[in-house]
Amino acid sequence: MKTFLTHYECSACQATYEPEGLKTLCPACGKPLLARYDLDAARAALSRAELARRGKSLWRYRELLPVDDEAAIVSLGEGMSPLLQAPRLAQRLGLRHVWVKDEGQLPTGSFKARGLAVAVSLAKRHGVSAVAIPSAGNAAGALAAYAARAGMQAVIFIPADAPAINKVECLAAGAQVFFVRGLINDAGAMVAKGTARYRWLDVSTLKEPGRIEGKKTMGYELVEQLGWDVPDVIVYPTGGGTGLIGMWKAFAEMERLGWIGSKRPRMIAVQAEGCAPIVRAFEAGREESELFEGAATVAAGIRVPKALGDFLILRALRESGGAAVAVSDREIVAAVETLFRLEGIFAAPEGAATVAALERLVARGEIGKDERVVLFNTGSGLKYPGVVEKSAPTLEPDADYTPLLDAELGA
Ligand SMILES: *Cc1c(COP(=O)(O)O)cnc(C)c1O
Repeated sequence: MKTFLTHYECSACQATYEPEGLKTLCPACGKPLLARYDLDAARAALSRAELARRGKSLWRYRELLPVDDEAAIVSLGEGMSPLLQAPRLAQRLGLRHVWVKDEGQLPTGSFKARGLAVAVSLAKRHGVSAVAIPSAGNAAGALAAYAARAGMQAVIFIPADAPAINKVECLAAGAQVFFVRGLINDAGAMVAKGTARYRWLDVSTLKEPGRIEGKKTMGYELVEQLGWDVPDVIVYPTGGGTGLIGMWKAFAEMERLGWIGSKRPRMIAVQAEGCAPIVRAFEAGREESELFEGAATVAAGIRVPKALGDFLILRALRESGGAAVAVSDREIVAAVETLFRLEGIFAAPEGAATVAALERLVARGEIGKDERVVLFNTGSGLKYPGVVEKSAPTLEPDADYTPLLDAELGA
């Protein structure tokens, strides 16, 4: 199987490393390594027309992924999530073109499937038998699934108050699970502690190069789905920021491939007011974030008080002319209902946060009415049954319900 991977490059000190072997953080400075490709050769070998003929998983971009052995691919069919028009939402906001890239339809119900499909495949390629992860919830569920499929042992450290379904996923898939009375960064420190002793691969966000490569395929897909064009604005719920950094990398790669021009979307990072380290750093003009104390939000996937790749997120936001926006949990919960009612999309609270952020940006006059806006719904609302607190009357089988309905529907 052909990959155009040539080497790995440190995202901070630019040191380069050979493409062979399993990679973790930069041995020189401890920052994330990024996969680099011979894009000129790929440009000559791989056409957009050829891509159009391929299957709909993210492995359609396999030449631009770091796995060089087809037999190592561990797949549950992840990729090519639908790009859904949202005309009623757009109209309500006074906009013309709003789409939702619905990642809630991927295996395990979130876009974490992308990163972990590639990370686990890379691990398998290099003979790894155990993988460990700290996770706010969905990454744990995805790792449990992909590790099971690969026949690998998964060791998972997840906050004790993570969404119940995420815990069940991990347990049902046969992972070794620990509930941590703390947040994802506490869990991360616990994984790091065990790494030398147990020789597991730590597949934390950005601690190995596979997860970002998997998530960058969102950028490739989006451009392909828009007829090889970029949108004007991307609104993305940001925790560790892998997807945002990954898409920014994908756009640069696609320009070198001759698939898009130099135009870039404005990247908007959305966080919850209860955990907004990137928003704070962006507003303060800083290049890195500070640990956000007391982080709390219903949007568990973006409850990341300090991201390893914060400097990369902030760089992408600024280079793109974008912004960072914080929204309240009240707005997030309201947005879950808004998106479901108007468009039939049951979003995770993280995904719904993008709707709340878009409302703010429109109110502030930061989005032109003809601009093409893409919201990322990163997970399925089905994984968060407790978020929408609504009730309905309970009836005896012989009850007369017409007095209740007459008022609603008219007799
Ligand atoms: C993990 C997660 C996020 C944040 O993703 P990053 O790319 O790491 O910022 C957003 N939404 C959901 C549903 C998640 O599970």
